[in-house]
Amino acid sequence: MSPTFKSEIIDLLSLNDTPSINLLLQNAYQVKNSVLGKTVFLRGLIEFSNICVKECYYCGIRKSNSKVDRYLMSEEEILNSAMWAFENGYGSIVLQSGERNDKKFVSFVENILLKISEATSNKLRITLSCGEQSKETYKRWFEAGARRFLLRIESSNKIIYENIHPSDHNFNRRVKCLLTLKEIGYQLGTGVMIGLPNQTIEDLANDIIFFRSLDADMIGMGPFIPHADTPLFEQDIKIVGNKNELYNLSLKMVAVTRIMLPKINIAAATAFQALYPFGREKALLAGANVFMPNISEVKYRKDYRLYETKPCVDENSIDCLQCVEKRIEGIGESIAYFEWGDSQHFEERIYNN
Ligand code: SAH
Ligand code: SF4
Repeated sequence: MSPTFKSEIIDLLSLNDTPSINLLLQNAYQVKNSVLGKTVFLRGLIEFSNICVKECYYCGIRKSNSKVDRYLMSEEEILNSAMWAFENGYGSIVLQSGERNDKKFVSFVENILLKISEATSNKLRITLSCGEQSKETYKRWFEAGARRFLLRIESSNKIIYENIHPSDHNFNRRVKCLLTLKEIGYQLGTGVMIGLPNQTIEDLANDIIFFRSLDADMIGMGPFIPHADTPLFEQDIKIVGNKNELYNLSLKMVAVTRIMLPKINIAAATAFQALYPFGREKALLAGANVFMPNISEVKYRKDYRLYETKPCVDENSIDCLQCVEKRIEGIGESIAYFEWGDSQHFEERIYNN
């Protein structure tokens, strides 16, 4: 990677006057429109369990947070949510949970995947986001019908990664998981949090370069939002002085990633909306093209708080869909109903292999 190239990314991420930032976001939006059109893909997000064996220092549902009421949605509840998404034209769902590696959990997820695949005749695209697993588990889930996997690297800087996780978490193992997922045939999603303690603009530029070298198909990233019941809550956030700066920096990350990787899918992460009510729309206008409405049963949502001020915890799926329609149409985009919405990058990657 040429130093000039990296310094150009740094320059873009460092823009700090409003007209220049707006110009960057507009350019990225134009790239998205000319390559992918004025459409947004939906993924119905089902947060099916908050039970987690990990202790990530930033996350509200980490194992030792005893204030959280733990749940695992029943097979029937998950299936109902998936069918609701299917019948309402979502085309695609994401099954997300805390991390568990025990046999019971692996079989539970496998069984759900088989049931959803059967009930929809394999017509619903299923994405998993269930953390680090063995190659065998990833394979079993792929064979049972999952086709995409989201596993954020969180930060491509190994030192930052080590700083935000306990010592039994391993950066190289996480990278290996990403490579394994790709090797198996999954559409690969990764991403980072923006505004982590000690993270610099250069780190963020390296994150974008990491996405490119990994040849990722999908990116999900958003601002880091401290949670009071986690060890990172008290830490000083060095590069980002206030909420507005964090918001702008996160939007710039979306924009530069879109310009660098025009054909991938980029999610307008919910964390944007946790900062500002129209944060997700703004992320779409900065080059994101995927929206992930929460379709979990309302009774569980308050217990899946990875960060504070998480929005949409009280709305049911129908209200949520109406709200999403309004939000997306309000910015002049249309929803690609009944479409899988695989990333163009993935389609070309597979075609060329
Ligand atoms: N257990 C799985 C999936 C659930 S966590 C996993 O860890 O991969 C999904 C994502 O939520 C994480 O990758 C992380 O980037 C994000 N997240 C967790 N805590 C957060 C916080 N305090 N602020 C912003 N994002 C957070
Ligand atoms: Fe568990 Fe994922 Fe939260 Fe880490 S980020 S504590 S693995 S749910």
